[in-house]
Amino acid sequence: METVFSGIQPSGEMHLGNYLGAVRNWVALQDQYRCFFCVVDYHAITQDYERDALSRQTLEMATDLIACGIDPERSVVFVQSSVAEHTELCWILDTVTPFGELGRMTQFKDKSAKQADNINAGLFSYPVLQTADIILYKASLVPVGADQVQHLELAREIVRRFNKRWGDYFPEPQALLSSTPRILGLDGQAKMSKSLGNTIALGEADEPIRKRLATAATDPQRVRRKDPGDPEVCNLHTLHTFFSDEERLEWVRSGCRTADIGCFECKSALADNLIAHLQVIRERRAELQAQPGRIEEILREGARKAREVARQTIDEVRDHIGLWG
Ligand code: ADP
Repeated sequence: METVFSGIQPSGEMHLGNYLGAVRNWVALQDQYRCFFCVVDYHAITQDYERDALSRQTLEMATDLIACGIDPERSVVFVQSSVAEHTELCWILDTVTPFGELGRMTQFKDKSAKQADNINAGLFSYPVLQTADIILYKASLVPVGADQVQHLELAREIVRRFNKRWGDYFPEPQALLSSTPRILGLDGQAKMSKSLGNTIALGEADEPIRKRLATAATDPQRVRRKDPGDPEVCNLHTLHTFFSDEERLEWVRSGCRTADIGCFECKSALADNLIAHLQVIRERRAELQAQPGRIEEILREGARKAREVARQTIDEVRDHIGLWG
């Protein structure tokens, strides 16, 4: 059985971009693959963060994953910093990672521009730790959003260099994209991202969801209510495709093209359907939160299972590359 690995940062709340671009796919993959899903806190500390919020956000992210349908009986769910082998392998991979390639990573450039006073080495070598995360479990498939494709290409290069230097050992991992690998934010311009504040969080209450959707950008051609629009260029239409049934979708498409409906009506229909969908996740989250210690227990058990695999890989790697002992 092939292995799947993917991770999510606990740097804020899970949002629709994470859910539709990645996590929904993770849930579906559990039926076919041996899956490892990780809350990547070591990655999160490459950015500024509040010390007292990090462990709470880590637990919340794990809760959200399980509420979304990740099943800890079938998948290994754990926190990255609980498995020290991730950083151990990262160092070994550092020695086969081309320095120049790391500087070319778009995310490194974007994040460096955003946090000019904190361009740390961890931010630079982020893709090396990410490669270690993946290949420690010899994962061949990595379900991610489009923003991670460049990192995955580099991960493949790092694996090729490892295998060339020391002989074949690791499989080359491959990115697995969902049908919508890049969900735009409410501004309709940039990708939806925790750090850009253009998100709808899965845990948001009804009224804030309605309010945030009401401000969302639509087809810029629809300046006045009677201007017809093109659903294909509207971010809200993309969101409707996930949460609305065929009948409602047809109403959106033809109503937008003929200006029979305005953006306001389109948005309130979307809000109704989105809230109904999130209700299921909300109920599961509430059930989990009503069981004190349950998530911690799941994460402890996940870390135990992950460590077992990770330790074996590291022992084999140490022998493979000629380290002592
Ligand atoms: P963020 O960019 O919000 O900090 P992460 O870096 O933790 O999110 O990403 C977790 C997963 O969600 C990754 O697989 C990433 O590719 C995916 N993802 C994040 N934002 C989007 C988006 N707007 N559209 C599609 N996938 C996304």
